[in-house]
Amino acid sequence: MSEIDRRHLLRSSALLGAGLAATGAVPVAEAAPSALFEIGDRSFIPIVDSDQVFPVRRIYCVGRNYAAHSREMGSDPTREPPFFFQKPNDAVQNVKPGQVADHPYPPVTKNYHYELELVAALRKGGRNIDAASALDCVFGYAVGLDMTRRDLQQAMGNEKKPWEIGKSFDHSAPMGPLHPASSVGHLKEGLILLTVNGQEKQKADLSQMIWSVAEQIAHLSQYYELFPGDVIYSGTPENVGPVVPGDLMVGHIDKLGEIHVKVV
Ligand code: MN
Repeated sequence: MSEIDRRHLLRSSALLGAGLAATGAVPVAEAAPSALFEIGDRSFIPIVDSDQVFPVRRIYCVGRNYAAHSREMGSDPTREPPFFFQKPNDAVQNVKPGQVADHPYPPVTKNYHYELELVAALRKGGRNIDAASALDCVFGYAVGLDMTRRDLQQAMGNEKKPWEIGKSFDHSAPMGPLHPASSVGHLKEGLILLTVNGQEKQKADLSQMIWSVAEQIAHLSQYYELFPGDVIYSGTPENVGPVVPGDLMVGHIDKLGEIHVKVV
């Protein structure tokens, strides 16, 4: 059942309950308190070759998960356990295959960076999940961009303040549709490639991740109880860099196709 369907059901159950109460019947569901105002629906991700969509609960991101990127950010990749941050649910920008998505240049930054990443979407959660069984939790995979206001991220980091404004902002999570693991398998290797205006910028192999998706899930589930609907950005390879309005980014991951995102 999609999130939207679930809400309709809850809402209609509440109405039904109110009607039954007048006749003395037992309500089928507790009447929900009425909201002061409506807010936007939660994000979802389309699924390839399906009428269903994947409802997004939380967006977790892994930092510095390719050694060469860790070095370019000034860290030592040999000593660091995986670490995590989040983006808000409504940061998702759905990018349809075969179309160019207009991506708004965000406010305040003067150094706006791409980070091309493999995104894993969870159909199952839990706490303290074993790496050996962690991939059972993965529904599928997508091509994603962890868009970053690098100047703000670095300035906050230099002051030992949270990265939040550098990473977690509107539209900062463009991604393509989900490819179910039941059709593409679990992606442990394969080309990950980003071009900007036709020029190669990031090029690596998924096998170069320091922490595999399974290990990411295992670590993350020590800190948070994971749930269906959680998605994980699994980190970017080296050669991150800036884009400006007018630039066209094309992100490719083997077996997952391409996304086309134009900065406007
Ligand atoms: Mn990233």
